[in-house]
Amino acid sequence: MKYWSSSRRDFLKTVAGLAVSGKLLAQTRGPLQRPVLIVGGGLAGLAVLDALKAAGRQAVLFEASARLGGRILTIRDGLEPGLRAEAGGEQVMRSHQRVHRLAGDLRIPLIDYPILEGDLVFRHRGRMLRFRLPSDLPADLTDGLSPWEKTRWPHRLHLAYTVNADPLADDDPRNALQWLRDLGLSRRGETFVRAFAAVDPEQISAAHFQRIARREATGGNSQALAGGSDRLTEALVARHAQSIRRNTPIRSVVIGENTATLLDAAGEAHVADQVVLALPLGPLLALDYRPGRPRWLSRWGEARVVAHELKVHAQVDAREFAALGIRQHIMGFEFPRMTWLLPERSANGKAVLSTTAVNRHLARLQEARFRGVQDMERLLRQQLPLLRTLAVKTRGEDWEHNPLIGGAYTYVPAGSRGSPPVQREGPLVLAGSDYSDYSGWMEGALQSAEAAVSEILRYSP
Ligand SMILES: Cc1cc2nc3c(=O)[nH]c(=O)nc-3n(C[C@H](O)[C@H](O)[C@H](O)COP(=O)(O)OP(=O)(O)OC[C@H]3O[C@@H](n4cnc5c(N)ncnc54)[C@H](O)[C@@H]3O)c2cc1C
Repeated sequence: MKYWSSSRRDFLKTVAGLAVSGKLLAQTRGPLQRPVLIVGGGLAGLAVLDALKAAGRQAVLFEASARLGGRILTIRDGLEPGLRAEAGGEQVMRSHQRVHRLAGDLRIPLIDYPILEGDLVFRHRGRMLRFRLPSDLPADLTDGLSPWEKTRWPHRLHLAYTVNADPLADDDPRNALQWLRDLGLSRRGETFVRAFAAVDPEQISAAHFQRIARREATGGNSQALAGGSDRLTEALVARHAQSIRRNTPIRSVVIGENTATLLDAAGEAHVADQVVLALPLGPLLALDYRPGRPRWLSRWGEARVVAHELKVHAQVDAREFAALGIRQHIMGFEFPRMTWLLPERSANGKAVLSTTAVNRHLARLQEARFRGVQDMERLLRQQLPLLRTLAVKTRGEDWEHNPLIGGAYTYVPAGSRGSPPVQREGPLVLAGSDYSDYSGWMEGALQSAEAAVSEILRYSP
């Protein structure tokens, strides 16, 4: 594919001529229309590329690393053949229509995550507590819950409160914890909410928390992409391999009246009439904007990026798990929030045990991971003493410290507005899960891509 690019020598000349060339090119759209440039090869960037191509537009995507997919990462190395572990995006709620549609288009089936089938297990004070109904839980776990809370699933308490609450205004100044306390959340209930809500309720505005929780509550049981989440991104990559430039980190964005010039790390300049920045908040803020940052970035600058969630994996003998009568989920305060077996199992009886830590468990898991796999094994053994076949083989990606990722989730501080409409400034359009109604979900990456593409086609059909 041929598109407008130049050497570093030409860059200054290009920048100097931006205003003029921009106007000229604006007048000569049509056969001379330049490709849309997309920065970021996560699901959002790839979906933008796919949709633009489907609309008959030329587009080129720049990805900083050698690997496409961003926060979708399926690990297979070090596991028995046929096994896989997801380090990033995994569960697809039934209400995530865009993911379902894309998976259908790419002929990737979804498999059920049988979350609430059979007994659940709660690890508490060194004991494995099996329960089917909330009332089965022992008093030392439920003491301090209000009578109403005692009849709810404790690990879904944040949803029980949210579903019944009146909708909150975006500018409600309370954080989610203050709001839940106002609704009657008990001290003991707080422990459950902190452990099981997807985000830390003290770190997120009440309105944003309510949006996230309502979607979770209406999503029903989740599903997963058969064969691995990366089948989604890999299929898009295969479809558009010719239009993707790997190992090309973009460092600077020079914003002209009608054009933008991207300067990559090798000093090459790429000029376009329309640029989609499909980046997480951290890398988006890290770009060098000339003559200055887009206005919408200052608003997003208030938001914080937090790696709320970390996954670690161990290979186990599925038969041993079954013999223990443990179904998919183990949860507990002392343990990384959730532990589950992938619904797909290989023929050799091996399965992958995944654990997810959020909020305050993160530090402990990260520490263990940094010290190595051995320590992780010790941590899991200590927490799951009944499992003898445990073999920690894989580890999660360091989402927090990887500068290309900039965290797993953003959160919007209390008082600032929630998810934005389409963001455009001159030739720049923003995309990415972080700025969608579904921040922290693959659905959000697709929603943002949809919005960005319709904005581009509206601007230059
Ligand atoms: C641990 C974890 C668990 C998750 N679980 C789920 C789940 O169960 N279900 C679900 O739906 N979602 C889940 N998600 C969220 C989901 O994975 C993300 O919302 C989605 O993949 C984000 O896509 P994106 O394209 O917006 O961003 P990203 O995937 O972050 O893509 C951004 C891309 O930009 C590239 N880049 C960065 N800087 C530059 C630069 N300067 N130049 C060029 N390229 C650059 C990066 O390398 C990356 O490839 C999870 C995420 C994590 C981390």
